Amino acid sequence: MIPFIDLQAQRARIADKIDSAIARVLAHGQFIFGPEVKTLEGQLAAFGGAKHCIANANGTDALVLPLWAWGVGEGDAVFCPSFTFAATAEIVPWVQATPVFVDVLPDTYNMDPASLEAAIAGVKKAGKLTPKVVIAVDLFGQPADYPAISAICKREGLKLIADSAQGYGCTLAGLHPMHWADAATTSFFPAKPLGCYGDGGATLSNDDAETVLMRSIAFHGASGDDKYNCARIGMNSRLDTIQAAILIEKLAIFAEEIRARNEVANRYAQMLEGLVTTPKVIEGGISTWAQYVVEHEKRDALAAHLREAGVPTAQYYPKPLHKQTAYESFPVGAGGLKVSEDIAHRVLALPMHPYLDGQTQTKIAGAIREFVTAGG
Ligand SMILES: *Cc1c(COP(=O)(O)O)cnc(C)c1O
Repeated sequence: MIPFIDLQAQRARIADKIDSAIARVLAHGQFIFGPEVKTLEGQLAAFGGAKHCIANANGTDALVLPLWAWGVGEGDAVFCPSFTFAATAEIVPWVQATPVFVDVLPDTYNMDPASLEAAIAGVKKAGKLTPKVVIAVDLFGQPADYPAISAICKREGLKLIADSAQGYGCTLAGLHPMHWADAATTSFFPAKPLGCYGDGGATLSNDDAETVLMRSIAFHGASGDDKYNCARIGMNSRLDTIQAAILIEKLAIFAEEIRARNEVANRYAQMLEGLVTTPKVIEGGISTWAQYVVEHEKRDALAAHLREAGVPTAQYYPKPLHKQTAYESFPVGAGGLKVSEDIAHRVLALPMHPYLDGQTQTKIAGAIREFVTAGG
């Protein structure tokens, strides 16, 4: 079986560096808030075009920190896509606010600005909830339509979070999501484009005061001068020093890996032309290609055929959030979520990682061609 994501290929390349980075942490013994955490935070902020970075325990905590810092709570509406991973919406009820699901565009799978406008208008008209925040997702690695979404947020007085768990490092017109967002977040779950060897996450911000507040919240609400005098209710969300040390080594090759991912994507696009619907990236956008997702009418049969041929695939996401048990009672935007419901049946993710070579891709494309020419 061809690996779906080949983490070992990357490990083989930088194993020495990672092993000695881990050994350094074992030697100095500062497993929490060690010097590597600060170093990494500075590097992550710079790489993501932000002033500040708060490293934390996972990409889900990373998302709740800004909501908490902004005082989002009961009676507030937070608009987010339904075609995403559960974490994007999960953190909204954590703070007693209400997620309002918005549809995505049929070509990029990212938030549809028109659906967002309709959802905001619907919430205002209903008069029960107060629109507060929009969470745009850089799904499968490509930037959302930030110029359009941030214009709506400005007009409506809403805060904007970029959930860049899959897209940290992506750009639009050469700019990172932080150019438009009030906060951007990422996840270092091992399978993400920038992953560590366990759980981890980060929140980016350009605001000095909000960064202090989010740091405090992530550390039990401690006040800066006295850690045993909590200023507020907080939580415990930290990135281990060992993971930070690993990430420093991985970040050093990340720009190059993003370029390699784009080469892999370009090769796929050429090989698969006319066979399946290949992904479309927003004009001016550079994706980190967390996933390479194609569409086919007979998705399930194609996936079965590929499995037989030794090609693993995955379905992101088989059920949009608003159709899942935990989320079905939350409101959906005016006009419904037709695109989210439709594409869920057609999308198929192919193997994707920076070390996927042309020969292996030729094999994958060959198996797809076999299926299509056999009348699939
Ligand atoms: C992975 C992911 C998260 C959450 O990250 P964790 O580190 O697993 O908590 C949030 N949003 C999206 C879109 C993701 O893909």
